[in-house]
Amino acid sequence: MKMLPEPFKIKVVEKIQLTPRTERENLIRKAGFNVFNLPAEKVYIDLLTDSGTSAMSDNQWAGIMLGDESYARSRNFIHFEATIQKITGFKHVIPTHQGRAAENILFSTLVKKGDIVPNNIHFDTTRANVVHNGGKPLDLVIQEGLNPESEHPFKGNMDVQKLKKTVEEAGADRIPVVMMTVTNNSGGGQPVSMENVRRVSDVLKVHKIPFFLDACRFAENCYFIQQRESGYRHKTIAEIARELFSYADGCTMSAKKDALVNIGGFLALNDDSLTQKLKDRLILTEGFPTYGGLAGRDLEAIARGLEEGLDEDYLRFRIGQVRYLGELLIEAGVPILKPPGGHAIYIDAKQFAPHISQSQFPGQALIVALYREAGIRAVEIGSLMFARKDPDTGETVYPDLELVRLAIPRRVYTNLHIEYVAEAVINLYKNRDRLKGLRLTYEAPALRHFTARLEEVA
Ligand SMILES: *Cc1c(COP(=O)(O)O)cnc(C)c1O
Repeated sequence: MKMLPEPFKIKVVEKIQLTPRTERENLIRKAGFNVFNLPAEKVYIDLLTDSGTSAMSDNQWAGIMLGDESYARSRNFIHFEATIQKITGFKHVIPTHQGRAAENILFSTLVKKGDIVPNNIHFDTTRANVVHNGGKPLDLVIQEGLNPESEHPFKGNMDVQKLKKTVEEAGADRIPVVMMTVTNNSGGGQPVSMENVRRVSDVLKVHKIPFFLDACRFAENCYFIQQRESGYRHKTIAEIARELFSYADGCTMSAKKDALVNIGGFLALNDDSLTQKLKDRLILTEGFPTYGGLAGRDLEAIARGLEEGLDEDYLRFRIGQVRYLGELLIEAGVPILKPPGGHAIYIDAKQFAPHISQSQFPGQALIVALYREAGIRAVEIGSLMFARKDPDTGETVYPDLELVRLAIPRRVYTNLHIEYVAEAVINLYKNRDRLKGLRLTYEAPALRHFTARLEEVA
């Protein structure tokens, strides 16, 4: 058997529907060839993001009914706090409404103008929050992490030599915190090894620099460690997670990923005086420190989801499903980033449609075709998202990679849905010379990919 059956049975269903081809054609035109403008109900398989799109379990929904909406120290907060303390080993737990709120509170407290904040690769929101507070985000991922063909088992690792050099040159007092993103989302959902986390931690301890994990996908990362790193095959995911967190001083987390919920986040850390400062700031923007912008029922769903996210049967299915999609595409010769990461498959659109120049958005051309032909929604991570005008020369600078990300929501789609997606991509690949380039008709001054409008080039 190629794939193990899903480790769950289905108790509640949500209807999805493939709208007719002619309707999809009208809708994508009306949307200005931007899938962010499509009504979600008109999407058949939605692979826009894995964030906040998980299916909750019966156990989590039961927890929702046990929501205690008391303002302070609700029973759900007590469960939430105890669960996170048990999983991470950190002393203090601060809820926030999502991951970026945790980052905002941490960076606005720690980062001063001119400071440097290294990471393997910053996610958009951590990068933006560092910059917003006057800091300079620095990406120190290993060289293999930037090579789409490299099969390195831990492409999310940080280059420890580069980190040492950065600390020597900048001085420890200009580095208020070092982050490590597990798994490395912006680098293709690639994991970080335990050894690398330990070595980074050793360097930072010498210089007394705080070390925080961006822990959104920590459980998926721990599964990769169990499967790929020597010495971990016989440890449970919970044991591996506990060791991973033990090398750090704290973490930020978007519960919309590995906590299997639709909204929520938190900070967890050991330092007493920093915790006090963070809580003071939290009260200003998110709410009282025992709910942080969430309802009691949300805290309960997160506490239960975190435990379920560590379950090995679930993780084997989860990581296996993403790999399955990758393998089906590789077998058919479709160019993708290798090896498949934890939460998504990334198609190399430059290789997929070499006849479309970067100025005509080959990734977006593929996105449009996926919706038009199969009702699938994916996201472009290429020129539409990242191309920039050089302020000095006025020339457009294009990103190195033109990617189309197929992000897989957790526990939402069956392996048959995955096969449908693979078949659609493979059919497009066979007819790739028919893909048409696009040009912009509207762009906003910042984060233009969300609201851009385009038209097809004849
Ligand atoms: C999603 C994500 C965030 C931000 O979390 P939100 O809940 O979307 O605010 C931060 N870091 C990484 C690695 C993420 O994937």
